[in-house]
Amino acid sequence: MRFVNQVVLVTGGGSGIGRAAALAFAAEGAAVAVAGRSPEPLAHTVKLVESAGGTASPVVADVTREDDVAAMVDSVVTRHGGLHVAFNNAGTFVPGGVADLAADEWSRALSVNLTGTWLSMKHEIAHMRAHGGGTIVNTASNLGAHARLPGIAAYVTSKAAVSALTRNAALEHIADGIRINAVSPGPVDTPMSLRPGETPADRAARLRTALPIGRVATLDEVTSAVLWLASPESGFTVGHDLVLDGGATA
Ligand code: NAP
Repeated sequence: MRFVNQVVLVTGGGSGIGRAAALAFAAEGAAVAVAGRSPEPLAHTVKLVESAGGTASPVVADVTREDDVAAMVDSVVTRHGGLHVAFNNAGTFVPGGVADLAADEWSRALSVNLTGTWLSMKHEIAHMRAHGGGTIVNTASNLGAHARLPGIAAYVTSKAAVSALTRNAALEHIADGIRINAVSPGPVDTPMSLRPGETPADRAARLRTALPIGRVATLDEVTSAVLWLASPESGFTVGHDLVLDGGATA
């Protein structure tokens, strides 16, 4: 129960890693606000948290829009009385190599993955530094700062930039009592790690040889790292980008 009396904001909380993290934070006592653009999946996450005995609320927000992000942070503080932890996890996978990407697809990847993370931190930090600090974990990827993969130029660029932004933000704000880190997963057990037309069984067969560990990461393996970075157990960890990739970049 590391998050009793803590308010945690999870962006991208309506699905995948974000939903699993919301459930994990709530199971350890946090009041959790889940944010995303679509109300229905957020409502489902809230229902799952409440069914497990936890406290949660939905916030509809597009992290690429500063007005939305400012309102998201305000509404979390109003609804739950504070903001102690933020997991900036909203993201999108955009395929396309350097010579093939349309300009609007390039912009969409940078806008959601990088600008969305920056805007979220900007408004979370504004609250946290005026209220005694907090912790922030951003979702980057092993594809970016740690490994490249042909054919997804905008995605790897946006995620490498999330890693750099995380380290810079950490330096800028540790003196404010705000500890900022990132996780960089390899393929995780969500639809995002399926290649076009691939089934989970196809993915399992591909990863048996393509990854040293031979499988995708479970949601628990990712969320346990996120909760550790968000908790006092990682108190001396600042500006770290924790790679969870089954040995892909070992
Ligand atoms: P996911 O289920 O597609 O989750 C992405 C979430 O982001 C969705 O809930 C989506 O909700 C939200 N989102 C997208 N655009 C948004 C926007 N403009 N504003 C607010 N929310 C937005 O995929 P996932 O696998 O859980 O991925 C979560 C994060 O992990 C992403 O940052 C991804 O890049 C990263 N990651 C995933 C893997 C993997 O293998 N799965 C590996 C490395 C890193 P709405 O569409 O309703 O807004």
